[in-house]
Amino acid sequence: MKGYGMFSINNAGWIEKDRPVCGSLDAIVEPMVVAPCSSDTHVLHGGNGEKTNLILGHEAVGKIAEVGNLVKDFKPGDVVVVPCCTPNWLSLNTQGEYTAHDEGLMASFKFLGSKDGTFAEYFHVNQADANLVLLPEKVAPEAAVMTVDMMSTGFHGVENADIGFGDTVVVIGIGPVGLMAVAGAKLKGAGRIIAVGTRPNCVAVAKEYGATDIISYKEGDIVKQVLEMTKDGADSAIIAGGNAESFRQAVDMTKPGGCISNVNFFDLSETLAMPAFSWGLGMADKTIRGGFCPGGALRISKMLQMIENKRVDTTKLITHTFNGFDKIEDAFKLMDEKPRDLIKPVVFI
Ligand code: NDP
Ligand code: ZN
Repeated sequence: MKGYGMFSINNAGWIEKDRPVCGSLDAIVEPMVVAPCSSDTHVLHGGNGEKTNLILGHEAVGKIAEVGNLVKDFKPGDVVVVPCCTPNWLSLNTQGEYTAHDEGLMASFKFLGSKDGTFAEYFHVNQADANLVLLPEKVAPEAAVMTVDMMSTGFHGVENADIGFGDTVVVIGIGPVGLMAVAGAKLKGAGRIIAVGTRPNCVAVAKEYGATDIISYKEGDIVKQVLEMTKDGADSAIIAGGNAESFRQAVDMTKPGGCISNVNFFDLSETLAMPAFSWGLGMADKTIRGGFCPGGALRISKMLQMIENKRVDTTKLITHTFNGFDKIEDAFKLMDEKPRDLIKPVVFI
């Protein structure tokens, strides 16, 4: 079968591989709608270390082609939403709080992490009954594909930010992940949401999702801007973009007792550092958390329920659509180039 991926770092193209084999608890899925992601381009450029001969992609809605003999809830032909993180639910770590790290750091991210991704004629999903969700009738597949990483990750940033009613929350970065964090912060009751970003489409959607203020990192120090707007700082800051410096800035712009929540991928080569003053000489009671996209069927069915009941419209993220399997390459290249009018592309296969 054919798939779009990477031969080696910075060397992408179409790869020929054998169709994956279905284990007894697993499913083989044919993609119907896929979306490229910043994380795919990150992997291509070596952000996760050396990877070779790997099919990319990890966001998909698809049709089941085959199920293992122990799968109870799904059959060939079912249209399913595929979480980007598909934990091994039999692992001990998964029985704890953080299902994203089943057999080690981010190990539940199996597409790209330990096997081929979803930009293929067929892809493999482990433990189908625990990881797949039937596409709800009232949810469009393109809306659903935005839940599997963008919404689950952005909302996880919100969950880790410990937001209370009326809180002031800064969202650093308003690409698709940060935009979902803005939407989630509003749903959690934030009183003021200060969004950091410059792309006009993103700024417009941030306002629609509930941002009350927009600031630009290109127009001066964002810490200074937040402190001027809030007097003593924000209750929480969610990092969903930027660079290693954004970490220090998030700590600096948060008031004592506040919470810093990161969902941004930092590069292997980066060091996260801050002056002791930023953390109140260690006395500021500031909580610092970083988290990875929760997956699995329960999580994603909850995200889908929010769409079904019109709590959030994820299709606002979609700025570019492509039609046809072969167009995965164009969509991926667009994601890699990131023109200023792009938020998220989708490919209907
Ligand atoms: P985008 O590249 O689309 O958006 C990045 C945002 O950060 C933009 O709003 C950009 O502003 C802003 N930005 C850029 N530089 C700075 C800066 N110096 N200071 C402040 N803001 C800045 O990214 P995505 O939304 O696709 O992804 C965001 C991050 O989340 C990535 O690192 C991605 O790899 C990661 N990610 C993490 C996951 C997880 O589970 N933890 C899952 C998926 C993604 P502008 O408007 O000017 O472009
Ligand atoms: Zn993704």
